[in-house]
Amino acid sequence: MENWEGHAARGNRTSTHPHIAKDNEPEQFRQDVAVALVRGARSRRTSGAEIGAIHLELAPAALLKHAAISLPAQSAGDMARHAPVAGVESIRINVRGIRDAAVEADMSRPEQFDVLVLGSGEGGKYLAWHTARAGRRTAVVERRWIGGSCPNINCLPSKNEIWSAKVADLVRHADQFGTVVDSVAIDMAKVRQRKRDMVDGLIAMHLENYKASGAELIMGAGQFVAPKTLEIHLNDGGTRVLTGGQVFLNVGTHAAIPDVAGLDAAGPLTNIEALDLDYAPSHLIVLGGGYVGLELAQAYRRFGSRVTIIEHGPQLAGREDPDVADEVRRIFGADGIEVLLSAETLRVQGRSGAEVSVLLRTASGDRTIDGSDILVAAGRTPNTAGIGLELTGVELDAKGYIRVNERLESSSPGVWAIGECAGSPQFTHVSFDDFRIIRDNLAGGQRTTRDRLVPYCMFTDPPLARVGSSEREAQRQGIAVRVAKLPTRAVLRTRTIGESQGFMKALVGADDRILGFTMIGPDAGEVVATVQMAMLAGLPYQDLRDAILTHPTMAEGLGPQFTNVPIKGVLQGAHHFPVSGTRNATQPGCP
Ligand SMILES: Cc1cc2nc3c(=O)[nH]c(=O)nc-3n(C[C@H](O)[C@H](O)[C@H](O)COP(=O)(O)OP(=O)(O)OC[C@H]3O[C@@H](n4cnc5c(N)ncnc54)[C@H](O)[C@@H]3O)c2cc1C
Repeated sequence: MENWEGHAARGNRTSTHPHIAKDNEPEQFRQDVAVALVRGARSRRTSGAEIGAIHLELAPAALLKHAAISLPAQSAGDMARHAPVAGVESIRINVRGIRDAAVEADMSRPEQFDVLVLGSGEGGKYLAWHTARAGRRTAVVERRWIGGSCPNINCLPSKNEIWSAKVADLVRHADQFGTVVDSVAIDMAKVRQRKRDMVDGLIAMHLENYKASGAELIMGAGQFVAPKTLEIHLNDGGTRVLTGGQVFLNVGTHAAIPDVAGLDAAGPLTNIEALDLDYAPSHLIVLGGGYVGLELAQAYRRFGSRVTIIEHGPQLAGREDPDVADEVRRIFGADGIEVLLSAETLRVQGRSGAEVSVLLRTASGDRTIDGSDILVAAGRTPNTAGIGLELTGVELDAKGYIRVNERLESSSPGVWAIGECAGSPQFTHVSFDDFRIIRDNLAGGQRTTRDRLVPYCMFTDPPLARVGSSEREAQRQGIAVRVAKLPTRAVLRTRTIGESQGFMKALVGADDRILGFTMIGPDAGEVVATVQMAMLAGLPYQDLRDAILTHPTMAEGLGPQFTNVPIKGVLQGAHHFPVSGTRNATQPGCP
């Protein structure tokens, strides 16, 4: 017999006094109370005034309509335990009996919400908090990660551990800065604990937001059983069925596992497991040279692992210009990371965490790489399969992403998609902007996803950041640009911190407006934000060139960077004009 204790939420028809359901209450009333009890207890919904005082005893096989609901006669001890919460007694429920009954009741009468959000990703949670604060009855269904992937398994955990790796690197090179360290040891259990503590804090922050906004967070896996109707398999057991007037899908993506013989059986790490290791693999093989693979590869190298990156394309960071990718490769080489490009993975043998070998086909012939662990970072797959979308009229594209228009509306009226599952660029700040677009349009606005200027940063060391077009993209689109480059070492700030790798690269259009800016170098993400502001304002590049910028900062490099823009009329066309040397005499403090 499964017994369970918890708090109970009161049914709708109760008075403001602690509620007692009696055997002689009308049947419908008893159903309401019992179902509310189960829900309230499972979701730990204990907000003072909403809680009734009930003690329930149900016979194991009882269906709800026959259930005996008894008075709270013998629960004095339990009541005492829960005394701090006003108006609450404990309840003891025969879970199996009441769960069956509750499910039966749920299926016949779905709970009505104004707003239903499936998946508590970045955009979805903000939307839920917004609608709940506006007084609309809102539920968010989340199967595992409170707050979505960014705070739990993606952005913030990776940046947290990457920072630990940076500290390790600094300490290893401490003598260059005049600090003498006898020996360096990495404690991966501590690295992980620091990350876990951060995540715990973030989860608490999210729960606080749910509570403050009034949005109900329901922990369970959601699946559509009819248009705008979700069945939730609750993590604590049982089922709820909810319908929403407006439905928002924010289900995200997961790591794709390429169809390579033996790979799945090898139990490869994805970003989730790689960010929760309490050891540094002796030899980590990374499948995929995109942002996720590169960030984690370098972090583990700095934690002491030997690292090999296998990339099937001809360059790392496939969406960047070749000169940018070459610089990343050079930096990684200097870190002692082996990079294999244009390498096709044919077969994987062994088990990640023990011994694993990867058979590759390269231009110079087949070869086998033997390692201890393998990490798959080879793209993402949307979490849209198996959730009943075919019952809802929500269409998917060929890759499984939800088809949306520029207002993020799906093909089913009253259903929107947000973030990665909607095919939006795969960044937290974009998912957040998706929320803002929907929020404003619901209030009568006319915002769209068209022509969004989306910056991003890969948090390698040094970081790589970009806003706007790359040179290759401009060439593909036939846009005439002037290109200016400046080596990072020309920025005087680098002399003070001893970090001089990388460069800045700007694309300027015929009308002197900035079309794109890429930087590899210290604080690249922050410098890119400065250029982004100029782009948003539609400023000519000369305004940045002539601005007075703080000395000595990395942003100060924008002065000489934009001084290097070729003169209009002399150099036009979709070409690359490498700029040799620098004009750092435009920086103050220069000899
Ligand atoms: C390793 C890594 C590092 C990254 N670093 C950065 C970074 O530094 N900066 C950046 O901007 N972006 C980064 N990203 C991308 C970023 O994490 C995402 O773009 C961002 O979190 C937005 O995701 P989302 O809103 O689309 O959905 P998510 O945040 O992924 O949320 C989807 C949620 O839906 C839930 N869910 C799915 N299906 C169901 C279901 N059927 N029932 C209930 N719940 C369900 C999932 O559990 C999940 O919590 C990184 C990604 C990875 C993999």
